[in-house]
Amino acid sequence: MQTFKERVFSGVQSTGNLHLGNYLGAILKFVELQKSYDCLYCVVDLHAITVPQDPLALKANTREIAAAFIACGIDPKKNIVFNQSQVAEHAELAWVLSCIARIGWLNRMTQFKDKAGKDRENASIGLYNYPVLMAADILIYRATHVPVGDDQKQHLELARDIAQKFNNDFSESILRNGFGEAFFPLPEPLISGPATRVMSLRDGAKKMSKSDASDYSRINLSDDADQIAQKVRKAKTDPEPLPSEEKGLEGRPEADNLVGIYAALAGRAKADVLGEFGGANFSSFKNALVELAVAKLSPITAEMRRIKQDESYIDGVLRDGAARASVIARENMNAVKDIVGFLR
Ligand code: ATP
Ligand code: MG
Repeated sequence: MQTFKERVFSGVQSTGNLHLGNYLGAILKFVELQKSYDCLYCVVDLHAITVPQDPLALKANTREIAAAFIACGIDPKKNIVFNQSQVAEHAELAWVLSCIARIGWLNRMTQFKDKAGKDRENASIGLYNYPVLMAADILIYRATHVPVGDDQKQHLELARDIAQKFNNDFSESILRNGFGEAFFPLPEPLISGPATRVMSLRDGAKKMSKSDASDYSRINLSDDADQIAQKVRKAKTDPEPLPSEEKGLEGRPEADNLVGIYAALAGRAKADVLGEFGGANFSSFKNALVELAVAKLSPITAEMRRIKQDESYIDGVLRDGAARASVIARENMNAVKDIVGFLR
């Protein structure tokens, strides 16, 4: 088996309403991983336009996500922080990979089915092809590790299938061009901890999403203490007190969700949290959750607000990141051109 240089890539769409699920499922992991890996963290604006976006809002949201990355503790000097549309090779590789991916593979993607809803004929081709662009985002850097929330697991599997098929289809050319047995690594998803799938506060069967119409379904990173308190207190629960053990959370998705959020914010295991709160009713647990969430999130919210005011700083970070990302992307895209047989 060929070994590849270890590298982390992940992205967040430049759509509004960055929420607790994005933070606990993704960004918190990004911060952790920067200690031990070379990381690229991308604001994926090309993905955002798979559904209609207002151009001015799109720019503002790109800056907002970049500000959130930095406010959460991502160091843009040590890591590469940039927005996707500034590195054209993402889209360029996506074309090549869409000639590798099979329609049957894409037809199985559940995110497309969820997002397109009943009116599938009217969804954009970009929304359908989203997972191929995502594979290109990762593979253009030959990234080996991808921290994501649980909802992206299927897309990661597809990225691995695409990488594998490219390596197989072009095996001779890959060898001839001096890249050994395989050009792309099979990127590994990093999905772990108590909050890989934070659920809506209104419906324990739906994931917390930026695109949910109800603002009460999520805690936004821009919410102040009063908003957090209101949303947690209104969060759907059931009439039973909290169980003392994890097994007691089975069949209680709303309770499971709130305990998972508490555990992730506290950096503790769910079992440990239940050891403390088992037998408590929801009103007292919710009070504790509000206190913890406000303590953890308000410094981030304040820092995000401060950074956001300095647009030229944010634009500078993204430009610098894009320049550094482009060096890697161009080298890999040139290799792909040689492997596929494009003259250059
Ligand atoms: P949308 O609903 O528009 O797709 P989103 O909330 O899913 O928005 P994305 O920008 O698509 O946000 O996702 C960014 C990252 O956050 C991804 O790694 C994704 O897996 C993760 N993520 C999104 N929602 C959750 C959630 N509810 N729990 C844990 N992780 C999540
Ligand atoms: Mg999403």
